[in-house]
Amino acid sequence: MPQILIVGGGYAGFYTAWKLEKQLRRGEAMVTLVDPLPYMTYQPFLPEVAAGSVESRHAVVSLRRHLRKTTIITAAVSHIDHATKTATITPAEGEPWTMTYDHVVVTAGAVTRTFPIPGVADNAIGLKTIEEATNLRDRMLANFDRAANLPAGPERDRLLTVVVVGGGFNGIEVLGELRSLASSLIKYYPQISFDDTQFHLVEAMSRIMPEVSLKTAEKVVQQYIQRGVQMHLDTQLTSAVDGVVEMSSGLTVETDMIIWSAGVMANPVVKNTDLPLDDRGRLRVQPDLRVVGDDGVIEGAWGAGDVAAVPDLTGGGVGGYCVPNAQHAVRQAKRLSKNLVALLRGEVPVEYKHKGLGAVAGLGVGHGAFQSGKFGFTGPLAWIAHRGYHGLAVPTVERKMRVFGNWLFNFLATRDIVGLEAIQTPRAAFEAVAARPKPAAEKTAEKPAEKAAEKPSSESTAAKADTEKVAVTAAAANAPAAKASSGKAPSGKAPSGTAPAKKAPAAKAATATASAKAPPSKAAASRAAATAAKKAPDTKETSKETPSAADSAEKADPSKADPSKA
Ligand SMILES: Cc1cc2nc3c(=O)[nH]c(=O)nc-3n(C[C@H](O)[C@H](O)[C@H](O)COP(=O)(O)OP(=O)(O)OC[C@H]3O[C@@H](n4cnc5c(N)ncnc54)[C@H](O)[C@@H]3O)c2cc1C
Repeated sequence: MPQILIVGGGYAGFYTAWKLEKQLRRGEAMVTLVDPLPYMTYQPFLPEVAAGSVESRHAVVSLRRHLRKTTIITAAVSHIDHATKTATITPAEGEPWTMTYDHVVVTAGAVTRTFPIPGVADNAIGLKTIEEATNLRDRMLANFDRAANLPAGPERDRLLTVVVVGGGFNGIEVLGELRSLASSLIKYYPQISFDDTQFHLVEAMSRIMPEVSLKTAEKVVQQYIQRGVQMHLDTQLTSAVDGVVEMSSGLTVETDMIIWSAGVMANPVVKNTDLPLDDRGRLRVQPDLRVVGDDGVIEGAWGAGDVAAVPDLTGGGVGGYCVPNAQHAVRQAKRLSKNLVALLRGEVPVEYKHKGLGAVAGLGVGHGAFQSGKFGFTGPLAWIAHRGYHGLAVPTVERKMRVFGNWLFNFLATRDIVGLEAIQTPRAAFEAVAARPKPAAEKTAEKPAEKAAEKPSSESTAAKADTEKVAVTAAAANAPAAKASSGKAPSGKAPSGTAPAKKAPAAKAATATASAKAPPSKAAASRAAATAAKKAPDTKETSKETPSAADSAEKADPSKADPSKA
């Protein structure tokens, strides 16, 4: 039976496998899909995931659950030798192995493209994966919590500043969504006003969103300015070292969130193959989606989606090729699966041709942009069009139900603002209290006589270690400076230019003690400091000092705030 190997289970790979399952007759071919991730990511939802409007898991589709007739391998394809029709499969654990195939479908997508700007690789984050989107959401929520405890000053400003680099569709979407999230958070943080939050876009070109008309793009720019976003067009990022963003205009901004969204490039894994590539590193394919070299079609090799240079037969596209987007990836996959089945049955493949339907963008709750041909508009209707389109486009009925259900609940109960940043350090709580055996050196130093007198059982040793841990937490809890720090923090109205808030010395001491006992867990240490803050008797005083919600609301410009309902 012919073996079909699909490399990558994103848009194009998932749809190819899904359609093959429906089209192939029993015993006609075996399909194997290899992807390092066990799910397909619905990337158009990533900005909404970052804003907490779509639940992380609802934006991904389980491969094993929805591809029941396909063999799923959770691993990377690291090499393809098409001359011998073998692929090297490299799992996260264990040794790589080779697999033979009759047909290979390369749908490994694109990766974020960066430039060697100092500090970007170390401090920025992309927006191509569900992990990145979820991290952005949790980080913004955690930063609000941290900033609420700090007096006005550079450290507080840093936590409340977001910089997006790249004014394409994705950059503008995530910028708008995060602006919307920040606006909706303000009502829960009396210490933070609308003006305390800073949003910047850095775009090298003189316009944003090349996918929509100039008129629509300019409207979006005006709306973003009204929403308090600083739009730096014709401006380049020159440095991001230590989170200090330097722009070609000379402006410098310090931030904890630099989101890099300045383009994508074909997945470089295709360079580890003997398949022909174009000058941009994309797989060369002909309109029927078969890979083509200088000497004609390469039998048994197929390509689709962002990794492939698919000729655009409508005459549009950039340089004569389909632009890398989901609209094309899905349709190419559907055509590819039909063509592959046709070839297996001795029929003739058909060329792929699709004229772009237009574009819809979600720019935060109640804000959107729509463009189809020359017709474009922005505002709530465009936002509804965005949600309607993508809610229906996410694959599988089960996922559609979850996403629409999610939006309905958010509408009724407002968006969920629980941040789970601590999930990044899941062992911190356990480590902070876990009993450890005494170091060997300490044990041998003890005199035998003392040892005999003590005769500690293993339980009592554990109990002693436990007591030490409790003592650490208690020490942290009683640290007076930690109390002071928590007590003073939330004024938030100190004149700007105040020195950055520093960790209170006793909190530091608690941190040091905790890490000495329970090795290096920053989160555990901050948990200890948090315990201290909770137990501090002057917490009441703190809340007295806290500006009231009404005060804060007055200071925020309500016209700038997003609708309260998510
Ligand atoms: C934030 C964002 C918003 C977007 N919004 C829109 C939109 O509104 N409309 C639109 O049309 N498009 C949108 N796009 C673009 C669209 O998502 C992509 O064009 C589409 O995902 C491309 O599909 P693909 O299958 O080629 O690649 P992907 O969907 O990226 O899938 C590639 C798959 O290959 C896997 N893979 C990678 N390396 C290997 C390897 N070595 N071995 C095996 N598997 C591998 C990956 O894990 C991944 O699952 C958006 C993209 C982003 C990032």
